[in-house]
Amino acid sequence: HRVPTPSARDRIVPLRPSLVSSSFPDQPSCASRQQLPQWRSSSSSNSSNKSPASPYLLSRIRDYEQRHKRCDPHSESFLRNSQELVRVNNSPDALLTRSKDLAPDCRYIVWVPVNGLGNRMLSLASSFVYALLTDRVLLVDFDDSMSGLFCEPFPDDATWLLPGDFTFKGRSNGEKFRGVYSLGNLLEKSEKKHDEEIAVQATALLYLYLSGDNNYDMLFYRDDTQKLLTNVPWLVLRSDQHFVPYFFVMPGFRAELDRLFPDKEAVFQHVGRYLFSPTNRVWGRVARFYDTYLAKAEQRIGLQVRVFYPDKTPASLMLPHILRCMQVVSGILPRLQQNETSPTSSATRSRTLKAVLVASLLEEFYTELKDMYWMRPAADDGEGGGGGVAAVGVYQTSHEGWQETGNGAHNVKALVDIYLLSMCDVLVTSHFSTFGYVAHSLAGLRPWYLQNPGDYEAKRNEPACVRAVSPEPCFHFHPYYDTNSANHGDAAGGGPAPVIMNCEDYEWGFKLA
Ligand code: GDP
Repeated sequence: HRVPTPSARDRIVPLRPSLVSSSFPDQPSCASRQQLPQWRSSSSSNSSNKSPASPYLLSRIRDYEQRHKRCDPHSESFLRNSQELVRVNNSPDALLTRSKDLAPDCRYIVWVPVNGLGNRMLSLASSFVYALLTDRVLLVDFDDSMSGLFCEPFPDDATWLLPGDFTFKGRSNGEKFRGVYSLGNLLEKSEKKHDEEIAVQATALLYLYLSGDNNYDMLFYRDDTQKLLTNVPWLVLRSDQHFVPYFFVMPGFRAELDRLFPDKEAVFQHVGRYLFSPTNRVWGRVARFYDTYLAKAEQRIGLQVRVFYPDKTPASLMLPHILRCMQVVSGILPRLQQNETSPTSSATRSRTLKAVLVASLLEEFYTELKDMYWMRPAADDGEGGGGGVAAVGVYQTSHEGWQETGNGAHNVKALVDIYLLSMCDVLVTSHFSTFGYVAHSLAGLRPWYLQNPGDYEAKRNEPACVRAVSPEPCFHFHPYYDTNSANHGDAAGGGPAPVIMNCEDYEWGFKLA
């Protein structure tokens, strides 16, 4: 019953109208842009067949691409708009007031990197949705560790990179920048003087510092604040969060979001797949690894083990926990026979080939699992239909030891793992990990979340892992919002249908479902 599996680089199925612009040439310089969608549409577990992008999203993205081309850093509009900002360099202590005679023909949202790659991809995708909702142009202030990961996302030779000599390039992450230009700071000051509307509306540049630690900054998530921001030409955004879900509870954005994303379970899937195409360097590694170790398996299982506190959760605690999840709770992996020399071990030929990709900074989960499954025979998996005894191959691309966010070569390895996970058929990912969120949302799969084994010790009756309700990522540190009463209220009042729920892996966060 082996299902032929296409190799990652096979070009088998013609693309249907897709998020990828037809204006992109068949680019050897960014092979993943064409090859990934083709691989996805021919993969049996692919979710985009279930929830294709809406025609409205396609049309809004085509509009966006034109706007981006018109306003990108090569354009005259960009030059004109950036002249306003020279004072950020010359006098970094004074708020920038917009000159009255310049109608902002192009308005920007500039994304700045913070924290690990998973966090970055989430907030970048959310920033793009914000750009779609507010007719802005998304630019990125990448540092060296981000260059070489992703192809340019927009067609017609447009760029999203802030030019190297741009006035605040690389400086917008600092506290000083925040102190002078942040929206929260300005709202706090002007509240005392009751002139907030004038002050905010008149600025040329504002810093959106959306880290959740300042209530004034979090006023960003209010419709009335959004009105104030409408004509501010430059917004610089710093966040490590997947903040899109909150837009769904803002009345000002909700109707448009419903048209863009009729399927609330596929928001990151569509936006992430559109925005992120790994460069040839990354994609080459992904495709070679996939073809060599994963393509021939009947089932590809991705296991992502993120250990946030190695002292509290050593491998000796994690490993039994992982096995409990994969062999007992989810049944993804077969149990092992006790007896290494049982007659079945040599007499029974394996019939089902399962490939397990272990993504982790650490090596031991990979080596332990690999040794386990070749040294001892697996029990009959009992799947019926001739499933028989599984042969389980275990693989890992790298084990970097520790997080090195500022290191480009390290980030390449991280992105390779994210994409390989996203090409699996079943996923077990770690609770609270944005790295795992990106992988399962790109895949469009509902993962099993490995719970914290520390918690497990404390709450003995809870399962080692729980199945996610939807593939969407969790918004961890959001403005206060009571999910329960809001959802009940909506249903009772006949308002828009509730679309958010508390996260399965982090009860204080919420997500789309
Ligand atoms: P989070 O901390 O789990 O939410 O995920 P982030 O991606 O934001 O930050 C963790 C960073 O550690 C990643 O970006 C990688 O640099 C590194 N890292 C964590 N897990 C892995 C892994 O499984 N494989 C690789 N190659 N790197 C990892």
